[in-house]
Amino acid sequence: MRRLGLVQPIDLALHVPLRYEDETQLTPLAHAQVGSTLQFEAEVVASEVVFRGRRQWLLWVDDGQVRCALRFLHFFPSQQKAWPVGRRVRVRGELRRSARGHEMVHPQLRDPTEPLAQALTPVYPTTQELPQAYLRKAVAGALARAAIDEVLPPACWHALGLDAHWTLRRALNFLHQPPPDAPTEALQNRQHAAWQRLKAEEMLAQLIAQRRARAARQSQHAMALRASARQGLVQALMQQLPFALTDAQTRVLREIATDLARDVPMHRLLQGDVGCGKTVVAALAACVAIEAGAQCALMAPTEILARQHFVKLTQWLEPLLAARGQTVAWLIGAQGKAERRAMQAQVHTGQAALVVGTQALIQDDVQFARLGLVVVDEQHRFGVAQRLTLRQKTARGEQPHLLMMTATPIPRTLAMTLLSDLDISTIDTLPPGRTPVVTKVVEARRRHELMARLRAQLEAGRQAYWVCPLIEESEALDLRHATQVYQELAQALGQPLPGEGQPPSPHAGPVGLLHGRQTAGEKKAMMDAFVAGTLRVLVSTTVIEVGVDVPNASLMVIEHAERFGLSQLHQLRGRVGRGSAASVCVLLYEAPLGEVARARLQAMAQTHDGFVLAQTDLRLRGPGELLGSRQSGAGMLRFADAAADDALAQWAREQADWLLAEHPELATRHVQRWLGARAGYLDA
Ligand code: ADP
Ligand code: MG
Repeated sequence: MRRLGLVQPIDLALHVPLRYEDETQLTPLAHAQVGSTLQFEAEVVASEVVFRGRRQWLLWVDDGQVRCALRFLHFFPSQQKAWPVGRRVRVRGELRRSARGHEMVHPQLRDPTEPLAQALTPVYPTTQELPQAYLRKAVAGALARAAIDEVLPPACWHALGLDAHWTLRRALNFLHQPPPDAPTEALQNRQHAAWQRLKAEEMLAQLIAQRRARAARQSQHAMALRASARQGLVQALMQQLPFALTDAQTRVLREIATDLARDVPMHRLLQGDVGCGKTVVAALAACVAIEAGAQCALMAPTEILARQHFVKLTQWLEPLLAARGQTVAWLIGAQGKAERRAMQAQVHTGQAALVVGTQALIQDDVQFARLGLVVVDEQHRFGVAQRLTLRQKTARGEQPHLLMMTATPIPRTLAMTLLSDLDISTIDTLPPGRTPVVTKVVEARRRHELMARLRAQLEAGRQAYWVCPLIEESEALDLRHATQVYQELAQALGQPLPGEGQPPSPHAGPVGLLHGRQTAGEKKAMMDAFVAGTLRVLVSTTVIEVGVDVPNASLMVIEHAERFGLSQLHQLRGRVGRGSAASVCVLLYEAPLGEVARARLQAMAQTHDGFVLAQTDLRLRGPGELLGSRQSGAGMLRFADAAADDALAQWAREQADWLLAEHPELATRHVQRWLGARAGYLDA
């Protein structure tokens, strides 16, 4: 519960259901619509384990008129025992039609002697370790205990056209325990007055907190970092690059340099699609800071990415810095003690002008001499708490300038309301000479057909990624899946497999394996071999997800693509198509596909535009997930959709102004209730 941010009773009271299940009634199968989710009772008439592509348990049930197959791809012997032939069962699931008649995949099975529910059953956002039933009880208890009084004057709500009946207390009671006759449509699309009240509260709290954070930042002090782009380090790096900056890169660099020159801390988001070239902009921004006498820290979310940035930045900057007696340092968790201490010393004395690393950068024992600029790459992957710590790293009460980079573009209306305390720079074009990636959506049964494609790519001297996702929330199982794929590919390409208990070697043949359980050294060896091109096919769990740059790779195969979110798929696809070769991304999926998964894969096949994909993601999943805020506790909107709720956003802006001017103490109480301890995070 703590991980979900559910600590105080009010947190639980505000943890509203994602949706509801109607478990108050039973539907005879003969009257049921294919595609709908329903509940029925029937008798078990057959139970068998069969192989259809993979091992599965088929449980046949009959409700007196219609037979239905219940299909389980994951199951335990104890479940089979619990439902023998002849037993009655209450089944709940999504009805599908297959060639063999009605079926449900992974339905819920219950004892039919349990009484039927009296109210709609709430389904809460949760994690695998936190069962719904437990959460339901906890929420109901907290709802009764939580202090939910009215903070703002009723006039605020009238201005939005909300009926005085819908106090926050009534709205929450209704949303958690809607009566069976509640209008499901209005609940589902969040237009019900109870939802309006909740969304309005939230958006207002968000806006007030952001206005305050912005005002607070304006009164903070930062080093003014002024450096000419026509001479010194910036100029030297530009001349040395094997390419010219695109117009978009030049423009955003100017925006950043303008911010850096001020003595108020920069707070800027640099967004740009995968592969648009954000790294070099970060490097040039670092040059500005270094030229002006400050240190720059660049933080990446994974070791692999940090290492790659380190290699690239060293290659670009080391010769230039060496001439000035300065170095590029790096800090990651898996570093040897001696090396870490040496690096820390360079950071502490200021000899290291640039420090690249993972979160290890923000540990207590790292002290900067004069940190002026912090760059956070793939910022959506970081918790806000980590960004905060990094900002607190400067001495003398000065704040560093902050540049956050993301490949997950944020639609404008959303940015206006949600990120009103951020300045945004956008790189809107890719470097010239890229060939678009062709995306194919293929059912996993046909994966053997891919081998010809893979061979062709390898013969043409190209390289390939083969990505296996999180299947269960179990590292061991994921690893087994990736290992299996690795073995299949190795065998198909005539590569000897490692002996029992031996780790896969990066030098055994064309196929390598990369996963989270390997040591940093093993990962590095694999990645190095792939970058060098001696390793041709990299089978990997999702550790390569962000930022890896191997231009010679032209084939990306993603197993179980249906399990990835859109932005993740887009990130992964962005690993290919970085060179001039025509590239292909194959999305393998396991049938049958759910509706959302189907929509995602279609979107992937139809567009390359990260912006369009982000908007589709927003539609399919809601803004909270797009911004990764639920995990980071950023206090982003969970309920309101700033892109869709224009009237609401307008109302919130007016009320925020009025409250801040006339009733700052009420504004504070309101924010406190909604954001609690997270309010400070908005600063980050
Ligand atoms: P991202 O924005 O996804 O982090 P990168 O910074 O990794 O993208 O850049 C992708 C690739 O494009 C790199 O190989 C980089 O060197 C190259 N690149 C960046 N800017 C340009 C440019 N203006 N012209 C040509 N190639 C460029
Ligand atoms: Mg990048």
